[in-house]
Amino acid sequence: MAEVITKRELGRGERVLPGVFRLRLPLPWPGVPHCNAWAVVAKDGFVLFDTGMHQPDSLSQLERALAMCNLSLQDARLVVCTHAHSDHYGQAATIVDEAGCELWMHPNHEHMRRMAEDPEALLARRLEVARQSGVPEEPLRRYAAERARRDTGIAAVIEPDRDLVTGVTIHTDLGEWTVHETPGHAPSHVCLFHPERRLLISGDHLLGRISLYFDYGYTPDPVGEFLNSLTVVERLGARLCLPGHGRTFADVHAHIQGNRKLVGERLRRVLDGLFGGPLTAFDLVPHVYGNSLAPQNAHWLLSKILAYLTHLEAEGKVERIAGEPERWAA
Ligand SMILES: [Zn+2]
Ligand SMILES: [Zn+2]
Repeated sequence: MAEVITKRELGRGERVLPGVFRLRLPLPWPGVPHCNAWAVVAKDGFVLFDTGMHQPDSLSQLERALAMCNLSLQDARLVVCTHAHSDHYGQAATIVDEAGCELWMHPNHEHMRRMAEDPEALLARRLEVARQSGVPEEPLRRYAAERARRDTGIAAVIEPDRDLVTGVTIHTDLGEWTVHETPGHAPSHVCLFHPERRLLISGDHLLGRISLYFDYGYTPDPVGEFLNSLTVVERLGARLCLPGHGRTFADVHAHIQGNRKLVGERLRRVLDGLFGGPLTAFDLVPHVYGNSLAPQNAHWLLSKILAYLTHLEAEGKVERIAGEPERWAA
């Protein structure tokens, strides 16, 4: 009789360079099966860049991945988070507690705090934004039901011991890593750069498979910030990118260009969608993304459309027409 194999992702660790390890940790999200944390040797232990999400068995997954690299959690000397999304920060509290080390992260992590401390209030606010953006009641109800069952993925909210801002350096046995503020994907996003080896720990700012997301509602123009952050990273001249999801990649410049191109395409589609007359953000979803709206990605797609509209508004290309629901005109 054939053995029944239950398909379950496991944490995995692998050496990508001498002293640099990729820890691939499972995620419960459809279409995003895992995220990366990176361990870089330092002071008889290692600096851990990102943490994976907090889930019932997430600590053992991280320990499993570390063990595959002959590392153990107690030897973490410092936790550095590229940004405060649950898949990069969720286990920070647990790890810091186990290893007795510090956490360094960018101070603009209000977006995470609001979500983790009061997920119901955040959901209520999201539903309000969705309603205001023209989403009908029925899909809203399905989305609310879907979200209500979800965990925040964050073990506990802890404040960074040090603010990860431009000018801060992180010491490892490989040498120093410099901090570069790269908001856009999240207000708290930073990239870490190793100038001698031209390595870039890019979090979700640059991914091998280009995929855009912007936290909407915390800063005036997340898309504009993201485009600026691409320029910040481009100037570094990285040779190898260690991203927050997927494998390392070398053609960093091409990926930066690819991101710019995709943002440009999305902005054009939003504008094209408005040529026939004013529309709500919800009406624009099929113009930009086809028929891909589902409860699982509704918030994701709507956030992006609102971020594009806000950017076009800042550029003076579209206008917000107040009302219930709110409409946008080219
Ligand atoms: Zn993220
Ligand atoms: Zn991520």
